[in-house]
Amino acid sequence: MIFNLIITLLALSLCEGKRYDGFMLLRGLPASEEHLEFFKNVTKNYDVNVWQPPGLVNRPVDFIINPDHAEMVKSEARNKNIPLEILHSDIQTALDNQTVNTYSRRNTKSFNFNSYYRANDIVNWMMDLKTQYPHEISLFSIGKSLEGRDIMCMKIIFKESKRRSKVVIEGGIHAREWIGTAMVTYIINELIHARNGLRNQKLQEIAYHYEWFIIPIFNIDGYEYSHTTDRMWRKNLRGGHGVDLNRNFDAAFGTVGVTLTDKQSEEYCGPKAFSEPESQHLRRFMQSTSKHLPISHYISFHAYGQLFIIPYAYTKKHLENFNEMKKIGDSAAARIKKRYGTEYTVGTAFDTVGYMAAGVSACWAKKTFKIPYVNVFELRDTGKHGFALPANQIKKTCLETMDGLMEVLKPRRTKLSGQDDFDEDQPDGQAMTTLNGSVISINVFLIWLFGF
Ligand SMILES: [Zn+2]
Repeated sequence: MIFNLIITLLALSLCEGKRYDGFMLLRGLPASEEHLEFFKNVTKNYDVNVWQPPGLVNRPVDFIINPDHAEMVKSEARNKNIPLEILHSDIQTALDNQTVNTYSRRNTKSFNFNSYYRANDIVNWMMDLKTQYPHEISLFSIGKSLEGRDIMCMKIIFKESKRRSKVVIEGGIHAREWIGTAMVTYIINELIHARNGLRNQKLQEIAYHYEWFIIPIFNIDGYEYSHTTDRMWRKNLRGGHGVDLNRNFDAAFGTVGVTLTDKQSEEYCGPKAFSEPESQHLRRFMQSTSKHLPISHYISFHAYGQLFIIPYAYTKKHLENFNEMKKIGDSAAARIKKRYGTEYTVGTAFDTVGYMAAGVSACWAKKTFKIPYVNVFELRDTGKHGFALPANQIKKTCLETMDGLMEVLKPRRTKLSGQDDFDEDQPDGQAMTTLNGSVISINVFLIWLFGF
């Protein structure tokens, strides 16, 4: 009896990993450059985990802080008249509400969107779906993670499909953003049931219109680590410190919003572009996927902030078909709002969060493969729970985001308005070359697509 108890306690302590008892989620609102400097120092000098880094004046800075340090920081902020708000008084209690379910094999219907899942359960569910829908689904690994886990991609094609172009959907590049992975599994679930879904003809049309390539847990090592060891883990597992995979791609690599030297930083981008096996695999996968039939959409799921982010994250400029994407983003945001009133902000990273980032996968994909429709969804919420989004918000998040996604994926039969979309906010001469290149390539793509 005592022996059993000891074993149970041992198992529990092994499972639990790092805890955040008493950690407060704080939000600062820097009103000046001096305030920004204060927050930069706080994130460096105290035991904090940054959720929204300091960017621009009047943009919120979110972080959780060790209770032993909280009073010090709060009083320092008070003395300097810097507004600091407590968003959550004990983040561990919120994390405890992130129910993690286990999936029972060969019962795909039991997989639900009222709880989160471990990587193995998600992969098993995908394998069971493939068994159930062998004609529509193929499942393959795009390569192995640093720790040797397979990064799985599900390809879905319906026989009714018109196969006009390809859609690539990527989730879970940041480990702790569990809602992103949940959302991508929801998309799989919706698509595969679209055929028997008389309830939603629009979804069916969209499902048949594309070839689908869906990667729900891109950073699978990090995702598992965020379940077993540290819920706040963001990067891959390189050398104990990790590399931010979403800064490791060749899109202005290493230039803005990253660090090349501070390995402990959440924005450590690695020594060079594609230094990590995970990003190398995505590069190879995209190179082969972009052949034959063009990729028209690349969509990446993150949390949090309720943002529809349009490339490019490494510049303040609105490049290429930004104006068209802004229109699409605005209608997606309107659709999202319609269901539960959730408000989204649309724009580039700089427009929406106030900071820039280089090496982002979506920017690299758009730039390299001339993909016309690329965006990042930063899902719920705006900071009440942040990464600790409770399990009872998963379903709602999925439903509203699917509404928005339908707008993005709406088959577009009209030609891109071409030059009109490209002539505002023109960048410098060098970028102009890229600009013209993209116009040509998108027009070629449309000729192929719609036979203009
Ligand atoms: Zn992210």
